[in-house]
Amino acid sequence: MNTKQNFFYDGTTQNLAVLGWPISHSLSPAMQNAALRQANLNFAYIALPVKTEDLATAANGLRAMNFRGFNVTIPHKTAIMDYLDEIDAAAQIIGAVNTVVNDNGKLIGYNTDAYGFMNSLTKVGFSPDGRQAAVLGAGGAALAAVQSLGAAGVRVTVGARNGDKAAALAAKFASHYDVCGMDWQTKEFLTALSEADLLVNTTPLGMKPQVETMPPVDWTKVKATALVYDVIYTPSKTRLLKEAEAHGLATLNGEGMLVGQGAKAFFLWTGVQPDTDLMTEVLRAELAKR
Ligand code: NAP
Repeated sequence: MNTKQNFFYDGTTQNLAVLGWPISHSLSPAMQNAALRQANLNFAYIALPVKTEDLATAANGLRAMNFRGFNVTIPHKTAIMDYLDEIDAAAQIIGAVNTVVNDNGKLIGYNTDAYGFMNSLTKVGFSPDGRQAAVLGAGGAALAAVQSLGAAGVRVTVGARNGDKAAALAAKFASHYDVCGMDWQTKEFLTALSEADLLVNTTPLGMKPQVETMPPVDWTKVKATALVYDVIYTPSKTRLLKEAEAHGLATLNGEGMLVGQGAKAFFLWTGVQPDTDLMTEVLRAELAKR
């Protein structure tokens, strides 16, 4: 791993953090610090365990201590919005913030998950124009996926085990994009699946330790040209992706989304594009240790 060695930490260092509860599992400090050193930037990124009841105090404290910015992760992505001065339009539609920039005391919230999702797709040559997508799951990752797909002009059908939740998620986007939501066992969803150019899993089914699980997919209905995207990155190849490959389909895992969201946050804080190959390398090395 080729990170520059002339990193220092002094009174001019600009501080960054990730707030979550729990937070010890976070891959962001390793990924961000490696990229900061590689870019020779005098910034430091730390993980801060913050309970829900302390979130307001923590956000105001980071502002008072002139932190340049911070990430927020589970369970704070929605709650943090109450303590910010401004929220970017996409983050407002999604209803969640994962990145905050401290602009001279003004805390501005962004959602870089949506950026990371689309960036990973464009990197593998997926062109969203006139395409259709079927999204499995209706939680936080689905919100980011639907926002980025909808904004790129993709027609999206969300399917979940709870049809009401899928419909409610779609309703949030309905005035902006072509999105609908339903129970994933319905005929209507099966039709959407058969028309989809992109199939996205945003449920935790298949994630460690439940590696044998996957959402229900009738492979006989999926287009031979469809791309199957699982936002999970542990394991790197979920059962869904293995089955998709066995059916001759192109696949993508969640690694690019994770690196992409971090790269966008890095840019918002520093104005510099990070080395995403290095971030990917560090991410893989960290995951291999766990
Ligand atoms: P979430 O907000 O809890 O949403 C999970 C969704 O999956 C919900 O629709 C939930 O349905 C559904 N689900 C959960 N367990 C299920 C089961 N046993 N059977 C069927 N459906 C089930 O979680 P999230 O934050 O969206 O995260 C979901 C996955 O995405 C995780 O594996 C996470 O690691 C991954 N992720 C990856 C990235 C990345 O950068 N690559 C970013 C964010 C998340 P109910 O509402 O009915 O429970």
